[in-house]
Amino acid sequence: MVEFYRCEEGIPLQGYAGKYCVVPVEYKRGHPKRDQTDILQLAAQAMCLEEMLCCEIPCGYLFYGETRRREKVELTEEVRDTVRSMFSEMHGYFSRKYTPKVKWSKSCNACSLRDICLPILGKGKSASRYVEEHMDGED
Ligand code: SF4
Repeated sequence: MVEFYRCEEGIPLQGYAGKYCVVPVEYKRGHPKRDQTDILQLAAQAMCLEEMLCCEIPCGYLFYGETRRREKVELTEEVRDTVRSMFSEMHGYFSRKYTPKVKWSKSCNACSLRDICLPILGKGKSASRYVEEHMDGED
């Protein structure tokens, strides 16, 4: 979700009077993670919004369903540098036409990309074995 708050140093929005600050809010079903994945996702979303809307977004929020609280995240240069470096690594893989091996984790169970990413292949099952099993019984 993207929230817009009226503020003097914000941006104009078509059809609305005044100026607005832009605040991305990422909603998660679970609880806060120990790693930085949610923070980096939020930072990447903020960086895209900054480019689209020509604005600066100093912070965003992560809301967790289990705690029913939102946590403020400062989008520091350090976090942004990590996002840039991950994007650069990703573009490097893409230009080399290299697909890195997926590491299965508990998060895969609830991930919306599970059917595209096929993390099960990272658990030792070969691609051909996976295809064989899923082709069984099909016409
Ligand atoms: S299914 Fe793929 S994209 Fe989703 S959490 Fe697992 S490894 Fe990451």
